Amino acid sequence: MLWQFLTHVEKCPDCFEELEIRYLIAEALGRLENGEAINLRRELSHKIKATKRAMYLHYFNEDILRIFEIVSMIIIVYEVFGFLSDFFGIVF
Ligand SMILES: [Zn+2]
Repeated sequence: MLWQFLTHVEKCPDCFEELEIRYLIAEALGRLENGEAINLRRELSHKIKATKRAMYLHYFNEDILRIFEIVSMIIIVYEVFGFLSDFFGIVF
């Protein structure tokens, strides 16, 4: 959901503007006190990209972990079969 939304926002000027306004209000209130230079439009684009990258890495890591689980299962099964064939003299 969030991924689709972010992808849409990147390409849809209307939604980007809507989000920009909300972002401006939230950020600007904090910024104006500090007198920081404001380039929020660019920052928002960066935040969207950073969020998507974080999401991508998150899902990527889950896939990697699943692959590791499968590989270790295969190794365990292989070892067990190797042990059994040694122990009973059975050739699988
Ligand atoms: Zn839109």
